[in-house]
Amino acid sequence: MFRLIIICGLVWFAYKKLKSLILPGPRPSQKVSGQNRQVIDDVMLQDPFCKTYFPGRDAVHLRIDGKDLYFCSTRCRDSFLAARIKS
Ligand SMILES: [Zn+2]
Repeated sequence: MFRLIIICGLVWFAYKKLKSLILPGPRPSQKVSGQNRQVIDDVMLQDPFCKTYFPGRDAVHLRIDGKDLYFCSTRCRDSFLAARIKS
């Protein structure tokens, strides 16, 4: 009888462990932003100003109104900001 309880406990523990592996909970924000950074490095991005596609590792990052924008060059970023101020 005592053995059965131990087996039940082990099965329950294994089930919980498996569930946490299949459905990972929310990760710390630091880790998420690090992962995003890696994804951006490997992906082609579109410059919102000149509409050119370029590799993410060359992106010029701009954070504006809580949104992340990526530009192909500092010139595009500056032109985008200038156009934004005008409108
Ligand atoms: Zn550009």
